[in-house]
Amino acid sequence: MGLLDGKTALITGASKGIGKAIAITYAKEGANVAFTYLSSVEKGQALEGELAAFGVQAKGYRSDASDFEAAGELVNNVIADFGGLHILINNAGITKDNLLMRMTEEMWDQVVNVNLKSCFNTVKASTRNFMKQRGGSIINITSVVGLRGNAGQANYSASKAGIVGFTKSVALELGSRGIRSNAVAPGFIETEMTEVLDEKTVQGWRDAIPLKRGGTPEDVAQACVFLGSDHSTYITGQVLQVDGGMLT
Ligand code: NAP
Repeated sequence: MGLLDGKTALITGASKGIGKAIAITYAKEGANVAFTYLSSVEKGQALEGELAAFGVQAKGYRSDASDFEAAGELVNNVIADFGGLHILINNAGITKDNLLMRMTEEMWDQVVNVNLKSCFNTVKASTRNFMKQRGGSIINITSVVGLRGNAGQANYSASKAGIVGFTKSVALELGSRGIRSNAVAPGFIETEMTEVLDEKTVQGWRDAIPLKRGGTPEDVAQACVFLGSDHSTYITGQVLQVDGGMLT
């Protein structure tokens, strides 16, 4: 028996990193998994097979999270292919870091569109289905940087802070329909991306975290299992930090 048996989840940006870990953990817990990717086509296609090996229905869709119309099409296709949708996880995200003085309009727009507008796109497209079902769990991946700001990441932290406001507003608007909306705020998560960083710098970050280690993608995935499952049916409008106590 898995915690997510019989549920269908849509996870954006699952070709690698945290999204991939969420997809695998969800499949292990019995969820049918629809997921998206954009540029990592081969990785996305390979994940389909990996997930199906857990005996669940799995399908990847190439879809740009920042594109409003594409999100509408995506959600319709998922509902047609899977026969329903119960959990929506907005994970797709990018960074385009620079100090404000050197940040271009394009860097701002791209990050805000992929990270924040994407949440509006998929939530808007899924709401009718969730209302008809009288239930659903929306999980938006924000960041501790969205809660405290970060030098060199004005665009990213603004997009992630925007996700918090959006998540809480959706919780207030849709709570009466049994629809829950929560955010997960990872701290420093060690992925392929951080492997290339200078080990001394990374160790310094680890030492500053109360739990004395970076998080794993699986740490974030387990929080998403909880928020997607029936173990959290009275929890909405919250931001769950998965940061080893970094921001306390
Ligand atoms: P990652 O390894 O770079 O993965 C990002 C994923 O998003 C990829 O699957 C990528 O797919 C997808 N993606 C990017 N742009 C997209 C678009 N326009 N449409 C659809 N998919 C798109 O990043 P990660 O570290 O796993 O981060 C995942 C989420 O956690 C992000 O929202 C990030 O902000 C958040 N987060 C991460 C950390 C951390 O320490 N890693 C900390 C806090 C929050 P393609 O490669 O196929 O384009």
